[in-house]
Amino acid sequence: MRSHYSGEITPGLDGKSVTISGWVHEIRDMGKLKFVILRDRGGFIQITAKKGVTPDEVLSAIDDLSKESVIRVEGSVIRNDKAPKGVEIKPEKLEVISKAASPLPLDVTQKVDADLDTRLNNRFMDIRKPDISSIFRLRGEILSAGRKFLKENNFIEIHTPKIIASASEGGTELFPISYFDREAFLAQSPQLYKQMMMATGLDRVYEITTYFRAEEHDTRRHLNEATAIDMEMAFIKDDGDVMDVLENLVLALIKKASSCENELDILKKKINVPERIERIEYDDVLKLLREHGKKLPWGEDLDTESEKLLGKIMLKEFGSELYFIVHFPLAIKPFYTMPFKGEKYSRSFDLGYKGVEIASGGQRIHDLELLSKRIKHFNLNPDNFEFYLKAFRYGMPPHGGFGLGIDRVMMQILDLSIREVVLFPRDRHRLTP
Ligand code: ATP
Ligand code: MG
Repeated sequence: MRSHYSGEITPGLDGKSVTISGWVHEIRDMGKLKFVILRDRGGFIQITAKKGVTPDEVLSAIDDLSKESVIRVEGSVIRNDKAPKGVEIKPEKLEVISKAASPLPLDVTQKVDADLDTRLNNRFMDIRKPDISSIFRLRGEILSAGRKFLKENNFIEIHTPKIIASASEGGTELFPISYFDREAFLAQSPQLYKQMMMATGLDRVYEITTYFRAEEHDTRRHLNEATAIDMEMAFIKDDGDVMDVLENLVLALIKKASSCENELDILKKKINVPERIERIEYDDVLKLLREHGKKLPWGEDLDTESEKLLGKIMLKEFGSELYFIVHFPLAIKPFYTMPFKGEKYSRSFDLGYKGVEIASGGQRIHDLELLSKRIKHFNLNPDNFEFYLKAFRYGMPPHGGFGLGIDRVMMQILDLSIREVVLFPRDRHRLTP
């Protein structure tokens, strides 16, 4: 339905016949001159109609146009220094393909600001705005870069079930669903299944997946449906091998984002690409926090305030926007986490980016006896885990992995809230659209 996108129409095409299709962004009627700004995926182009030159049926079609209608225009390219980008279209035919009703639920030209709720309620129209659509173009680029990196590093893309029989990590934060005559749940992560893959010989797997978590959060970084790159690898020496992969993956994602110049220009953002990622011990994090007035008792996980403060300290004192916190207390990590230095610490890590956790991971227990002991220690019912434990009974190599939140990566790269970087966010209050 088109010969060119608007972005492809340059003064160099002067005199050439073209067909363009898109949405009516603006209409300006100056009496003898009528301007229509057409918007498509490539940007904007001005259509200039003149009384006495443009066919009458085109002129009257323009008079009847409503903003945001979908139109198709045939005409010729005219070089004109006064037009935006030095070029405009002289229309010969204008067809209204789909007429937009008015008033519009949202102002796509952004002359009137809308609050986030109104924007999300009319998301299809919100994404017509070039800056908002840039967020999702960038997101697509990052995901492709992630897939490319993982493929180049010998990872196999898999899919694990999202309907599960029991809690994967023992938490209570699951959405129950009715599964014929039984109760089932939506998966909070692929954890147990990706670990079982380590007993198959596939060795390196990943999944770009949805997490469902029934937590009653009301923050700018939590949703009840979140997306992550979840990976697991076997035959590792320890958690360091897993961190090496995560470090290179995250740097590849940020580097990719920084190369999306067109999107970043539209969004008016600049991205800093770090060369490496700092690694600090959990104990040293507590020390740093204490030196800055925040007393976090040993054995506790970082709360929102501590995460934020640590982000500031890391930037100021180490020049790092990205940092691993390593060797968390064993007690605050899930049952499958490998102990370290007796039972006090664990071979686990979190990855922070500008004061927000974007990933968690570590080495897992591969010894069946120890694993069963840890399940009992957490007062979980071993019967619920029989399908999983079976995979540890007949040859299981040492392994580890991580879950990297894509929504979190996006929000931190662009300094936005999580709801802005997800197409149709799901939170406690929002279930539609
Ligand atoms: P947090 O402590 O920030 O609530 P978590 O430790 O519960 O996160 P993990 O189970 O470690 O989350 O999940 C791995 C990653 O998935 C997180 O580091 C984060 O990037 C992402 N993630 C987890 N839960 C959510 C959520 N509710 N909304 C958005 N992203 C999430
Ligand atoms: Mg975590």
